[in-house]
Amino acid sequence: NGVAAREQAMIARRQKLLGPAYRLFYSNPVHLVRGEGVWLYDPDGNRYLDVYNNVASVGHCHPHVVAALARQAAVLNTHTRYLNDTILDYAEKLLVHFPPELSHVMFTCTGSEANDLAYRAACAHTGGTGMIVTQLAYHGVTVAISEMSPSLGGGITLGQQVRTVPAPDLYRGGGEDVGEEMARHVRAAIADLQACGIRPAALLVDTIFSSDGVFADPPGFLAPAVAAIRDAGALFIADEVQPGFGRTGEGMWGFSRHGLVPDMVTLGKPMGNGHPIAGMVARPEILERFGSRTRYFNTFGGNPVSCAVGQAVLEVIEGEDLVRNAAETGAYLRQGLMALAERFEIIGDVRGAGLFVGVELVADRAGKTPATAETARLVNGLRDRRVLISAAGPAANVLKIRPPLVFRREHADLFLEAMEAELTALPAG
Ligand code: PMP
Repeated sequence: NGVAAREQAMIARRQKLLGPAYRLFYSNPVHLVRGEGVWLYDPDGNRYLDVYNNVASVGHCHPHVVAALARQAAVLNTHTRYLNDTILDYAEKLLVHFPPELSHVMFTCTGSEANDLAYRAACAHTGGTGMIVTQLAYHGVTVAISEMSPSLGGGITLGQQVRTVPAPDLYRGGGEDVGEEMARHVRAAIADLQACGIRPAALLVDTIFSSDGVFADPPGFLAPAVAAIRDAGALFIADEVQPGFGRTGEGMWGFSRHGLVPDMVTLGKPMGNGHPIAGMVARPEILERFGSRTRYFNTFGGNPVSCAVGQAVLEVIEGEDLVRNAAETGAYLRQGLMALAERFEIIGDVRGAGLFVGVELVADRAGKTPATAETARLVNGLRDRRVLISAAGPAANVLKIRPPLVFRREHADLFLEAMEAELTALPAG
């Protein structure tokens, strides 16, 4: 399988020390020791073009973020039971990026905790427990949230209070308006919950449908589903862990593309550029019941170092105009991929928003049969060319392309060249 002896030894050591639940990317796993901007380096000094990491969103080891972290770590790190300006300064700066109705923010360390907190607040506010998610959603690792993360597969039993709806797939949809179709499924899920005596609490969706296979168009398609959940007295939670912080190129959040104001928004991954900070933003009325009955203390959530990092990340996004770069470089990248689609039949669909791009590979365009094996081959082939991406979707045939937001045209060109070479090398179907 081409894995060198040193890496084979590391894999054995991982298994011995970390046990069986971890998974590595690629048949020849990548060993990394350093990162800078869009580049990752192995111990031999080889560089890999990172077209996949949406966590190090402003670029690996961005000096402004690193300096903010080091500066605050040298001064004070405590928690939210003391007064400290860092959390307030960051909260103010972050909330500026939200519609005015969303005026409270609570901090956690992971996206999973943010979703868990949103779930608890939704239950407290509505008096219900019923949750609706998409068929291949991923929302996190806690007991409650893993039970509403069907993408975890066979090892997970969905909660009794959880219902799934198909993702809004414009490529494979039956020709119906995707927004109306999703709303119809949400109404059916609500009816099913009610028939089982379960009051709905919320519709929770990743607004770019990352693990479902990346669905972005047409903008606005989420509105009818959100209207349906609100008609049932329940809430809409936008999981912005993947699309948030400018990635979609149209404002800071995926939900903005849909012309919506969610009841709660959960944040994570790119929020700290790799440092573990996450959070939940809410309409104040939704936190009233939860907050009056429950004390919330998260030891590390909202600590001064994390908040200094979060603030530095926002400064870089603003200072380097990264939302605009996501729009411009994303459009350029999609154009390049569409040009490849004219030459390579296997590319069935190119979709996405900003620097969140999905490319669906199919064995035949008419039947849209998923080209699952070829997708894995392509992802591994790119890795051998030191270009890193991954795949998603129910048949793992959607290339998931999500570089740091400092990805420029020159990097897109490198990626497209590698794609062209790999597509050419694929055996004809
Ligand atoms: N929501 C979505 C949409 C995610 O992709 C993830 C992580 N992959 C999470 C939540 C959970 O975040 P974390 O891993 O930080 O707990």
